[in-house]
Amino acid sequence: MKKIPRISLAQLPTPVEPLKNLSAKFDGSQLWIKRDDQTGLAFGGNKTRKLEMLMAEALANGARTVITAGAVQSNHCRQTAAAAAKLGLDCILVLTGQAPDLLSGNTLLDHLLGAELVYARKEERESTLTMMFQKAWEEGKRPYLIPYGGSNPTGAAAYAYAFAEFVQQGIEIDWVVTASSSGGTQAGMVLGAKVSGFRGKVLGISVDEPAAVLEERVLTLANQTADLLDAGCKILKEDIYLNAEYLGKGYGIPTDYDKRGIIEFAREEGILLDPVYTGRAAGAVLDLLEKGLFKHGERILFWHTGGAPALFADAYRELFAGS
Ligand SMILES: *Cc1c(COP(=O)(O)O)cnc(C)c1O
Repeated sequence: MKKIPRISLAQLPTPVEPLKNLSAKFDGSQLWIKRDDQTGLAFGGNKTRKLEMLMAEALANGARTVITAGAVQSNHCRQTAAAAAKLGLDCILVLTGQAPDLLSGNTLLDHLLGAELVYARKEERESTLTMMFQKAWEEGKRPYLIPYGGSNPTGAAAYAYAFAEFVQQGIEIDWVVTASSSGGTQAGMVLGAKVSGFRGKVLGISVDEPAAVLEERVLTLANQTADLLDAGCKILKEDIYLNAEYLGKGYGIPTDYDKRGIIEFAREEGILLDPVYTGRAAGAVLDLLEKGLFKHGERILFWHTGGAPALFADAYRELFAGS
């Protein structure tokens, strides 16, 4: 894979650790974790890796301001705000939803990190983004637009390199499981796996889209990323493993599976997950282990992508009451 411009924001490589207590509960299977919640930038997460590439591109383009968008409790927005602060750039965040009465969780951190917060209804997100960009441009702030979730080929490339980092760590794994939403993380991993000759499978757990939508997104992005990196390979539908059976009532609405994932990782391993992404992926892993999707003796790596600050969001205040 070709190298593309990158600035250092993350503490790498992130650790790979065995999950001994959880493994003991599932006779015969071995569970591991890769700690991308520990990338180090303002509570870390997977977006820090993507931002190493995206911010390099922004700076190369002479940006003085970065603009991006996400859900109110977006981890991507929080990490973008932190990266911007570190690099001396202004940051504008367009958050989908109502302005909360009280800043909490990620929005509190966005504010603390100095970002300008703009709220928009879902239907108005794109037009608000365009308007904010235009306004910043006219004011001479040299804005640079970072895509939703940091998921374009530049951002996804970070996860192709991340997968190579994991392969270097030399632990034999049959399944790598990750939460998947805007698809860049999974697309990069699938590409990195193919380029490295990884013999296991990369399984994305959808947190908000039906399987067909997410599959198309990951496939397209993985191939665009392969082109960007001159990877010399083509990603096929068969390379993409997806499960969209844990969506419940949708994005950001925790199910009992999600809660179980969060509680078991916390109480068995002392590892904090989040109520939107990693809780859902972990809940799926535990359930799929019980259902026998993973065969006896297989080694499963849960790739932790961060997000725990959302546990402190006002919206989730009652989530674990009585659990
Ligand atoms: C953004 C995010 C994901 C999903 O990554 P995508 O590249 O958007 O698919 C997973 N986990 C956490 C904690 C995230 O913030």
